[in-house]
Amino acid sequence: MSKIYDLIILGAGPAGLSAAIYGGRGKLKTLIIEKEKDGGQIALTPEIENYPGCMDGESGPTLVERMAKQAQHFGGEKIYDEIIEVNLFGNEKTLIGKNGQYRGKAVIIAGGATPKEIGCPGEKEFTGRGVSYCATCDASFFEGLEVFVVGGGDTALEEAIYLTKFARKVSVVHRRDELRAAKYIQDKAKANEKIHFIWNSVVKEIKGTGLVNSIVLENVKTKEITEISADENDMTFGIFVCIGYEPKTKMFEGILNLDKGYIITDENMKTNVEGVFAAGDIRVKSLRQVVTAAADGAIAAVQAEKYLESQYYSTLQ
Ligand code: NAP
Repeated sequence: MSKIYDLIILGAGPAGLSAAIYGGRGKLKTLIIEKEKDGGQIALTPEIENYPGCMDGESGPTLVERMAKQAQHFGGEKIYDEIIEVNLFGNEKTLIGKNGQYRGKAVIIAGGATPKEIGCPGEKEFTGRGVSYCATCDASFFEGLEVFVVGGGDTALEEAIYLTKFARKVSVVHRRDELRAAKYIQDKAKANEKIHFIWNSVVKEIKGTGLVNSIVLENVKTKEITEISADENDMTFGIFVCIGYEPKTKMFEGILNLDKGYIITDENMKTNVEGVFAAGDIRVKSLRQVVTAAADGAIAAVQAEKYLESQYYSTLQ
């Protein structure tokens, strides 16, 4: 029989790591299970300038590295495994991974969200061959080339700004004529002379031979179709898809209450199942930021501690 933890945290992004810090400080036997890489979305964020205390170009990976060290300092154990099945009911919860089974008395789900796909022909085929979901990871492949960024939110514009360090020209393709991004990010992007905007447009198809060499756009107002081909000298260009995220909640369907795939919690991060909490981008909330993810993680861990205390006292009575 595997060891039983007081608290199991699914996901080592800011929400999960913050929960581990609070759980560890609360002397809970804490295990964090991470599928692949610490940090979640911020592992891909080139610069964090709106998390209190982060200044002078702090990057997502450096911030997350310090968070992970802090969690470890307070005794949190970490395992890399992909959980594929869960049994969350009752006092003992079991998480079944590809490499093992983990038992815990309380669980915090902080698995975050993954980038959304456009869903057009050619997108899958050219992923890694011109199509990317992460400028921090792939920008350097497009040194001196042209790139397109799809989306009009904070991520799209931050990625566009970052890409100007590498690309010759960055075109932001947005489906409306008004951006969703915060005003200060919009101002920064609009002031950058390498950034151009293609308004009211969606990507209909991505074409190429080996590498991407053209993008087909539709103007949603006029229905006009335009195919933009790579410059003859370049032969290729990049397409960065930044159209939001989808929560990783498939395995919780029918167990936890969800809204459009996001986990519904109360303000104490409690889900509809006793002893199961959710924190960060995976839950229904109005602002998905590092600071709100970290706050959620702290609340969830403190509530998990209270839940465990209540379980202990109820067995004494
Ligand atoms: P988002 O805010 O949901 O924006 C997604 C963008 O993609 C929107 O402009 C949307 O258009 C567009 N879009 C969605 N589906 C599309 C489709 N199928 N085809 C074409 N365009 C599509 O996503 P995000 O920018 O990734 O941000 C996610 C969250 O993280 C937000 O809460 C954001 O504030 C936060 N964030 C914050 C920062 C920061 O503060 N530094 C940085 C990154 C992210 P519409 O506008 O027409 O809906």
